[in-house]
Amino acid sequence: MKLTGNNFIGNEKSSVGNSTFKAVNPATGKKLDTSFIEAVPAEIDKSAQKAETAFKIYRNKSGQEKAVFLEAIADEISILGNNLIQRCMAETGLPEARITGERGRTMNQLKLFASVLREGSWLDARIDLAQPDREPLPKPDVRSIQIALGPVGIFGASNFPLAFSVAGGDSTSALAAGCTIVVKAHPAHPGTCELVANAIINAIQKTGMPDGTFSMVHGKSIDVGMAIVTNPLIKAIGFTGSFRGGKAIFDAASKRPSPIPVYAEMGSTNPVFILPGALKDKKKEIVNGLTASVTMGVGQFCTNPGLVFLANTDDTNSFKEVASQSFKESTSGTMLTSEIQKAYKNGIEKLASNIGVEVLATGKTNGEGLQGNPTILITSAEKYLTNSEFEKEIFGPSTLTVSAADKSELLKIAENLSGHLTTTIWANEDDLNYYSDLIGILERKAGRLIINGFPTGVEVCHSMIHGGPYPATTDSRTTSVGTTAINRFTRPVSYQNFPNKLLPNELKDENPLNILRLVDGEYKR
Ligand code: NAP
Repeated sequence: MKLTGNNFIGNEKSSVGNSTFKAVNPATGKKLDTSFIEAVPAEIDKSAQKAETAFKIYRNKSGQEKAVFLEAIADEISILGNNLIQRCMAETGLPEARITGERGRTMNQLKLFASVLREGSWLDARIDLAQPDREPLPKPDVRSIQIALGPVGIFGASNFPLAFSVAGGDSTSALAAGCTIVVKAHPAHPGTCELVANAIINAIQKTGMPDGTFSMVHGKSIDVGMAIVTNPLIKAIGFTGSFRGGKAIFDAASKRPSPIPVYAEMGSTNPVFILPGALKDKKKEIVNGLTASVTMGVGQFCTNPGLVFLANTDDTNSFKEVASQSFKESTSGTMLTSEIQKAYKNGIEKLASNIGVEVLATGKTNGEGLQGNPTILITSAEKYLTNSEFEKEIFGPSTLTVSAADKSELLKIAENLSGHLTTTIWANEDDLNYYSDLIGILERKAGRLIINGFPTGVEVCHSMIHGGPYPATTDSRTTSVGTTAINRFTRPVSYQNFPNKLLPNELKDENPLNILRLVDGEYKR
């Protein structure tokens, strides 16, 4: 399939603007073919208008119809075959196995949401039956359900060119909720975005969904994204990316004459606490797992463990030796973009320039181009607690090890943490008893707590929470991975004293969809 570089305004391809850009292969530094045309304001307005018109039809499609649509997107992505894999590899420098795995995850995610729609109970149907004879006042018939918010703007991240991009988790959960979407293509992988956009348009046409259910606009300047955020027809934003980008979009959405929710999933440093008993019992296993988790994907994961906290014991010095050796044996890899590589290099230099921070070890350079070299740094808890910059994400394969004098200093560090996507504890039975207060502290700091594991690798399932308090996200009450991500794009509505035939099927007396509902306080089908 030949790429066009066009924008997709609904099902229509559009190339009005004069400003163009090309994708760059990060492994070679060479520009790839195809000029992508930055969308102009009129095209973004038109995509929002089409999304609004389509929404009026799409929101009324049944769960079954929307499920067929999501599955059709998965099928169309599969049909793209090796074309998609090759273009994605060229634009990201990521290896074939990783892209193939991510494509599988993206397709499975679409199918998982389809199964949620077919089952139907996610809509949280509630029914309180009328009691006309109640004294002193009759009780009305009140029923509630979740309804879709309207057109949603979606921003994907560079490090997940499929699973957090055009047909990624944010798009899938918004479409599943019954929202139409306007996607900002990521300028680091615009060809991948175009291929997936074609797959979605094919699925729209094959399953009879309205023109405007999906639009996608290109842009290398922030103006394109901001035009989506400030368009009055857009009713929510799903964002995955950097703190800088997410916060700017959140602020812009809050300042609109009619503010809208922004679900921005941003960076995180994912603290790991290694408690003394576990360190003594499993030093080598922990170090090997830590090195693998920090260096996986050249550290370009939002769940990368960028902070490791230890309490000083007889084992701390040997931990440093083993970890140092492990990082020395690791190798560098190609990073996604020159900006990300520069930010990584600068971030490490800045951190290492602080008095009391030392580079413990770095990996071996492996090849040319935009290399990110694994780095482990070390400092004391005393030093760490004086500088809040130490907690910030350095996007890439690095981690800062912090040793605390004792339990109380370790707990102080935990209390001082801001919001993260994950926190991890390595502990044996004795540690869990002695540090019993740690879990309670960490529950307030992250969306996912892990014991004796590592945070990289996020399972897409019903109970996954990929979120957390600010600054990990702009709304700690939700998740961007897993099926409850759908709730970000709905709101509840009550229907009072409605005749049965006017109620949505999910709320009708006869329960035609046989979904689980809360009827007079009791869950039943
Ligand atoms: P990014 O630079 O923030 O880009 C994300 C998208 O937002 C791009 O389309 C970008 O367009 C746009 N954007 C950024 N700043 C903007 C602004 N001020 N106004 C309007 N649009 C703006 O992020 P990235 O480099 O792709 O991804 C890396 C980051 O994402 C890391 O920090 C990583 O931890 C985080 N991440 C988080 C999660 C999560 O679930 N929490 C998952 C994956 C990645 P332009 O490029 O045109 O500016």
